[in-house]
Amino acid sequence: MFASVLRDHMPEAGPLLVGLAIALVALGRYLIFAGGALGIITLFRRPLRFRQIQKIPFTSTQMTREFLYSLSSFIVFASVGLAGFRLNETVGFFAIYKVPDQYGWVWFALSVPVALLVHDFYFYWAHRFMHQPGIFERVHRIHHLSTNPSPLAAFAFHPLEAVIEALGFILILTVVPMHPLAFLIVSTLMITINVIGHLGYELYPSGLQASAFGKFLNTATGHNQHHRAFSFNYGLYTLVWDRLFKTTHPHYEATFDALTARQSAGPDSPLSDKGNLS
Ligand SMILES: [Zn+2]
Ligand SMILES: [Zn+2]
Repeated sequence: MFASVLRDHMPEAGPLLVGLAIALVALGRYLIFAGGALGIITLFRRPLRFRQIQKIPFTSTQMTREFLYSLSSFIVFASVGLAGFRLNETVGFFAIYKVPDQYGWVWFALSVPVALLVHDFYFYWAHRFMHQPGIFERVHRIHHLSTNPSPLAAFAFHPLEAVIEALGFILILTVVPMHPLAFLIVSTLMITINVIGHLGYELYPSGLQASAFGKFLNTATGHNQHHRAFSFNYGLYTLVWDRLFKTTHPHYEATFDALTARQSAGPDSPLSDKGNLS
C-alpha cells in the first residue's frame, strides 16, 4: 500500500528504494508506538504499579532480544511487501482503490472494521497453526521466549513467522477493497492494539467485560495470559474467534476483573498489590 503511494509520486522509484521505504516506515512506527509505550510505562512505573499484570520487571536481555528480532521482522515485511507489490504490478490482484467516491464514504468507513475482522480471523488461525507441535518450535517459539513480554515484543518474530504475519496484510489488501487512507487507519490500529497486548499493564477500566464491546475486545491481560500459558487467547484485535471456538483462557474474566478491581481499589486497599495473577 505504502509502496503503491510511493510509486504514484515517484514513478522512477526502484525496488530497493521501495523495499527500504517499507522497512523504514515499519521501523519508524515501531519506535514511536512500542518505544513510546515503553517510555511511558517506565516513566510512570510507580503510579502504574497497581496495573502491572506480572510483578516482574522486563530485563535488558529480554528487551534487547525483542528489539533485534523486531528489526529483523521489518526486513522480512519489506521483502514480502515488495514481492507482493511487484506481483500486483504484473497480475493486478490488490483491491486498492485511489478515488474515495469509487465505493462511497459508507464503504470507506465500513472497510476499516471489515479489514480488522478479516485480519483477526487470519491471525487467529495462523496463530493456532503456529502452536501445533513441530511448527511451534521452528516458527513461533521466538515470540514466546518472552513469558512476560514488553511492548518491544510486538514484532519479535522468527523470520518464518514474520512471513506469515506479512501475508496477513497481503490477504486484506487482496480481499478487502480499501482506500490508502483506510489502510493507514487499519495499520495504525494494528500496531496500537499489538503494543497494548504486549504492554504488561492493564489500562482498561474495571467493568469492561460488562459491555458487549468490552467482552469481545482483546486486552493486555488476555495476550499476557497467552504468553504465560502458551495456549488460549489466540486473537489479535478481538476475542471473537476465541469465544466462538472456545479457546478463551478459563480464568480470563476472573483475572481481568481481579486486576482491574486491584487498580480501582487504589494503593491503600488490601486488593491493591496481591502479586501475580494467573
Ligand atoms: Zn505476543
Ligand atoms: Zn502464541
